[in-house]
Amino acid sequence: MKCSTCQAKAAIEIRRHNAAFCGPCFLAHLERQVQRTIESEKMLAAGERVLVAVSGGKDSLCLWEVLRRLGYETTGLHLDLGIGDYSPEGRKKTEAYAEAHDLPLQVIEVKEETGFSIPELAGRTRRPPCSGCGLSKRYLMNRAALEGGFPVLATGHNLDDVAATLLGNVLHWQVEQLTRMTPVRPASHPRLVKTVKPLIRITEREAVAYCLLRGTDYHEDECPNAAGATLLLYKDIVNQIEAVSPGSKQAFYQEFGKRVRPHLAASETVTLRECEACGQATTGEVCAYCRMMERARQVTVRRGRVTRTVLEVPPA
Ligand code: SF4
Ligand SMILES: [Zn+2]
Ligand SMILES: [Zn+2]
Repeated sequence: MKCSTCQAKAAIEIRRHNAAFCGPCFLAHLERQVQRTIESEKMLAAGERVLVAVSGGKDSLCLWEVLRRLGYETTGLHLDLGIGDYSPEGRKKTEAYAEAHDLPLQVIEVKEETGFSIPELAGRTRRPPCSGCGLSKRYLMNRAALEGGFPVLATGHNLDDVAATLLGNVLHWQVEQLTRMTPVRPASHPRLVKTVKPLIRITEREAVAYCLLRGTDYHEDECPNAAGATLLLYKDIVNQIEAVSPGSKQAFYQEFGKRVRPHLAASETVTLRECEACGQATTGEVCAYCRMMERARQVTVRRGRVTRTVLEVPPA
């Protein structure tokens, strides 16, 4: 198989584009795809400071490397979730990348910030780890971006992520979530930072190939809490369809954006206000994060036959 661009021996085939590329042409192709996405979706303006959410995995390090090469002024943001052996390794890879390229990096230790690691938070609130983790990540990232004066936060969600999420939301007709499935979430309130997903046209396999060809060392393990998650099942189903019908994955997500989402967005009427406890944007009086943290700080103690709930002193 030959490279579609230069006719050298191809290293990777991309069936949905009916193309194959040698190493250097693939790197240029992927970076071009990301740049086109950024421009067509108006994700980043020239000279804008970008906060990049980096877990240390293939997608976020691929994103950081591409944005760095495209000349954007980036700062990394890593959340140390305190998950067993998984978190230290991701943090190590992120710090090593930042150091190797002399890039600024902010690390937030969730336990130090909130008093609880993600597994402790799950135990306290009796919610699945991913539920508390997702909420904490969104909240802490938004707050870090606001406090750092960043106008935009970029995340490494790829085509596999968004197509699988779309399938899940369609299967259950989660209309609110479908409405929010946009490549760009604008800053619709002064306490919300614009978020963008520049890798929505890049698959997981391509992000891996990019990191390998660029020599970017990433954390290969999945979070232990991801095992058995329904999102993995949806990814598998979408990949099975893609294998027999190349291009379906991208078309599924892109056509949703063109044909369906504009109708949903038109009906979106959410009024945001400031959380009475923390000041972040919310639809109710107190935001979901503050409510969750309050629940986590409560411990049930037994006094004889009476069960009481007491509030622990929040961490300093
Ligand atoms: S799999 Fe769940 S717990 Fe692990 S990082 Fe992702 S959201 Fe957090
Ligand atoms: Zn080539
Ligand atoms: Zn709040």
